[in-house]
Amino acid sequence: SEGLTLSVQIVPFGEDLMMLISRDISQLERLETMRRDFVANVSHELKTPLTVISGFQEMLHDGFEDFTPDDARRYLSLAMEQSTRMQRLIEDLLALSSLETSATVPDDEQVDVQTLMRMVGDEARALSAGRHTIEIDAGPSASLSGSGKELHSLLANLASNAVRYTPEGGTVRLVWQATQEGGELVVEDNGPGIAPQHLPRLTERFYRVDRGRSREMGGTGLGLAIVKHVLTRHQGSLDIDSEPGRGSRFAARLPARRIHWNTPVER
Ligand code: ADP
Repeated sequence: SEGLTLSVQIVPFGEDLMMLISRDISQLERLETMRRDFVANVSHELKTPLTVISGFQEMLHDGFEDFTPDDARRYLSLAMEQSTRMQRLIEDLLALSSLETSATVPDDEQVDVQTLMRMVGDEARALSAGRHTIEIDAGPSASLSGSGKELHSLLANLASNAVRYTPEGGTVRLVWQATQEGGELVVEDNGPGIAPQHLPRLTERFYRVDRGRSREMGGTGLGLAIVKHVLTRHQGSLDIDSEPGRGSRFAARLPARRIHWNTPVER
């Protein structure tokens, strides 16, 4: 949808021809605006932590003798947090750009669904550090043909969002199940939920419901953009069902041609 199709059509009526041309130009303008917004967003996202880091460095440099070791350590660890944030952002940007530049995914790699879920479940438990109940409903044994790395980042991004946005005491569930069209990897939580007006824009790069909260939770604003790209590349789709105050359900739907069921399944 972000690609530009230039079609040249000769229409015998002047006005109609004008319309076709102007439509192409507005598409070009839209792409240019998106590119400019993206660059502005990236710059802003990198500048904020860098300002904090250089601020602390300057403070320590100029008043080195005035700091107690404890104070110095506290400032350094705040600066380290910001470095981690920049690193995470750069990693996500690189992931996104490699998803955008390589057109196809390997079809020959077989990814065991149950192993993937167990792995992401363990990572979610580590991130939660005992603050949530993490459940896994591994469903019927199956493997996926696609990119193991990309499918891992897909599920890991959904699971880490669920853990990060769900308050302490909440439950996060990872589910794998057969559907009419294939199968779906689902991540459910009983966290804050998302108001309906945000849902259509959620997978846009840097779109957040609450910017401050996302930052506080260590978000980059790129997680769901990555998820959507991975799914598109695997001919899948993302279904989001959420209600404020009740929780969210993100279903990553994969087509039958990418799924090998190890035992017969009921649809
Ligand atoms: P971020 O790094 O900010 O989490 P994402 O692209 O992963 O970026 O998600 C975009 C936004 O969607 C988040 O900022 C948050 O507002 C919302 N969101 C994503 N997952 C959840 C969830 N499980 N519960 C509530 N809100 C969520």
